[in-house]
Parts: sequence; structure tokens; C-alpha cells
Amino acid sequence: MSVKLTGSCYCRNLEYVVELDSTDDARTSLCHCHNCKKAFGGNYGLTAKVPKDSFKYTKGKPKEHAADNGSGTLLHREFCDNCGSFILEYGEEAKEHSRYICVGSLDDPEALPPKGEFFTKNRLSWMPPVPNTFQKQEIKD
Ligand SMILES: [Zn+2]
Ligand SMILES: [Zn+2]
Repeated sequence: MSVKLTGSCYCRNLEYVVELDSTDDARTSLCHCHNCKKAFGGNYGLTAKVPKDSFKYTKGKPKEHAADNGSGTLLHREFCDNCGSFILEYGEEAKEHSRYICVGSLDDPEALPPKGEFFTKNRLSWMPPVPNTFQKQEIKD
């Protein structure tokens, strides 16, 4: 069953839709790496990997930031230049096929629950693993 999800930044200058054949086409994961901590301003990043063409902005134009993520990959991040909300990211190698949407920017974040966790070696000591999800010490792809 196809699904249509909507999302926006905090001030709603940016709005978007994600159209998937099924929620199985999205892979939500937590990432505990240092870049995600900085970018999200929290103790982990929460993104849903979706096919590039399933995502489109319906309002506004994001600001883009691109930099080496520290391991030689150029990481692109898109966010609202008015309120600062982080909307999505993708590595240079994923550019043509995937987008990693910040799950909290969805109007209904409950729609895409997590399937796993990356960089669990960097998980803060007070946070328990999410039950029934895959656990990877490192690698986010
Ligand atoms: Zn905004
Ligand atoms: Zn990360």
C-alpha cells in the first residue's frame, strides 16, 4: 500500500512530501556518531533513508551545507535558513539514489519507527539500546 508522508521545518517555510510504495522502502535508524550529535544537537541522529525520487520540497528552498564528515565522505545537509531546522542529509556517494530525512521533521514521526542503530560504540552511557532493532558498532550506510 503506497504511503504519502508530509513534513516541514519548525517555522514551515520549508514543507515536503515523501511518497513511498510502502513504508518498507524507508529505513529509519539512530546514529550515535559524533557528526550526528553535532548536527542534531542531541545524543544521536534519527534519520529515515528513502529513495531520492520519493522526496520533494513543496514549499521553500533549503540552505545547503556540505563538508567532509571526517572520514573522507562529503556530507550534504539541508536545513531551513530561517528557523534552522535540519531536514535531511546524504553522503556524496548516496547523492543519486538516497535521502536521509530527519524523522522529527515529519508531521507524523510515528509513521517510520527505527529498524536499527549505528555507531553504538559511541552511544552515551545513560541511553539503553532500542529493543528489537539491529545494532552496529560502527558503519552507517
Ligand atoms: Zn523554518
Ligand atoms: Zn551519524
